[in-house]
Amino acid sequence: MALSPLPSMPRSHRVAGALIGAAVGDALGAPFEFGPPGQFSARFPVAARGVQTEMCGGGALHWAPGEFTDDTQMALLLATSLLERGGLDEADVFARFQRWARAEPPDIGSQTRAVLGSDRPWDVAAAEHFARHGHAAGNGSLMRTTPAAIRFARAGTAATMGAARRQSALTHGDPSAGEGCAVFHELVRVALDGGDPLVALPATLALVAREHRARWATVLAPDWTPDRATESNGAVWPTLGTAVWALRHGRDVAEVLRLVIDQGGDTDTVAAVAGGLAGAVHGIAGIPMRWTSVVHGRVPGWSDRVWWLADLHHLAAALDGSTAPPYEAPETRRLAPREVADGVWAADLDGARHSPADFAVVSLCRTGTRFEHDVQRFAYLTDDDANSELDAVLSDVLDDIEALRADGRRVLVHCFAGQSRTGLVLRAWFRRSSGLSAAEATDAVGRRWPYLSLWNESFTHALERVH
Ligand SMILES: [Mg+2]
Repeated sequence: MALSPLPSMPRSHRVAGALIGAAVGDALGAPFEFGPPGQFSARFPVAARGVQTEMCGGGALHWAPGEFTDDTQMALLLATSLLERGGLDEADVFARFQRWARAEPPDIGSQTRAVLGSDRPWDVAAAEHFARHGHAAGNGSLMRTTPAAIRFARAGTAATMGAARRQSALTHGDPSAGEGCAVFHELVRVALDGGDPLVALPATLALVAREHRARWATVLAPDWTPDRATESNGAVWPTLGTAVWALRHGRDVAEVLRLVIDQGGDTDTVAAVAGGLAGAVHGIAGIPMRWTSVVHGRVPGWSDRVWWLADLHHLAAALDGSTAPPYEAPETRRLAPREVADGVWAADLDGARHSPADFAVVSLCRTGTRFEHDVQRFAYLTDDDANSELDAVLSDVLDDIEALRADGRRVLVHCFAGQSRTGLVLRAWFRRSSGLSAAEATDAVGRRWPYLSLWNESFTHALERVH
């Protein structure tokens, strides 16, 4: 089965989707790590869109809801080194990893810990560990490599596969792990270019070192399933094999992540790898906002900085070459919240920022700093014609509003000026909740919310498709 990637989706959506998809998979899978199969679907038989979502936290290591683990912590160390050093400086990455490992992160792979704690130089530590112990094809170098896959994608196939092998070799002396990273990098490169990574698989396998090719071909074959794995999914082969299998069979990012977490075992890592791939294919707007809005964490041994969605978004763009500074929101008119439909309110950015704390906020624009509200969801909706995923975002937003209302919460929808994006969601909500036609819904909102703007025709067309 081939995917049908949206050729019109902007590259920036895919780049953000890859980095944030990996972090989301990590945080979503963390509470289920080392558990038996089927736990995720047993606990969440249907989508959980109300105040409590599938980002439930807990597990053996007591994660906070939405908190990412070592997979993303190491990815952030790698990402910031790539940016600050202008490329892959292995000695620098290794030093950052060592400092992190010395800070005793709650979660760290056994092989990674042994190599980083060996006090040997970066260029021999992993190789010596492999020579002494063998068995070094864990998934610990694959789980963190998405930032490098983004950074080197524009440099082409050979460069990105080479960088993958080098970053893997820092902690994983077994070249099998490096070949897995190389395959992953190339599949991400193809996806970021708008191609179908499943179609690219045979050509990618031909570039795997010959002595490793057959084993990789087995787990990446169209008929391979995770129950055919010959190792636990802490090993690199079934990790990438399971991610590709889920990409093949899941219709969207949510389904891909459900499929892999339901395999049990090393759920955070397999979901991080699958989330990176699926995010590159389906884009940031294809990841449910109830997950992207809460993913967060800090990196032990580095600083007290807490990374949230906007930070990851900015980092992803920088890895793809953007030099734009972090976004700071200008002041707005501060339109006070007004109830437009039953329990659904509207405001502009500053009106929402200073609104009562019991509102569940749906932000349709960037906000700079986060609000104080316990529920704040960020939908990826730009006010232009580049919304290739508009229908998916709109249905994600409407479904969440419905669930939050069912939980008894007042919902406050806002964008920057409270006009176009806010107006679209309010109109769509009237269609959904009251069965109004597009024209009737527009009329109803216009009477209750005088700031409604109808300039964006792609929004009006999308409104007509809501049912
Ligand atoms: Mg982990």
